[in-house]
Amino acid sequence: MEGLIAHPAWCRRADCVRTGTHESAARAAGGPGDLLGIGATLAQLIDGPRIVRLTVTEDGVTAAFSVPAEQARALHRALGDLLTS
Ligand SMILES: [Zn+2]
Repeated sequence: MEGLIAHPAWCRRADCVRTGTHESAARAAGGPGDLLGIGATLAQLIDGPRIVRLTVTEDGVTAAFSVPAEQARALHRALGDLLTS
């Protein structure tokens, strides 16, 4: 069934038809031993807008946020500006 729809290149092609959402593999920002665990996944409702799903884990508690792609780009630029100033 997954092969019957068009997937974006970044989609991991798992369960898109049932969930109605394309989803990338998760990426970690950091590694073991970091104070915070930060993860990001790109998702898109089929024929809908892209969002970035961010997770932040501290002391075993995870908070999840859905950020519109344009706002995620703005965050990327803001962090870049701060870290290069
Ligand atoms: Zn897909």
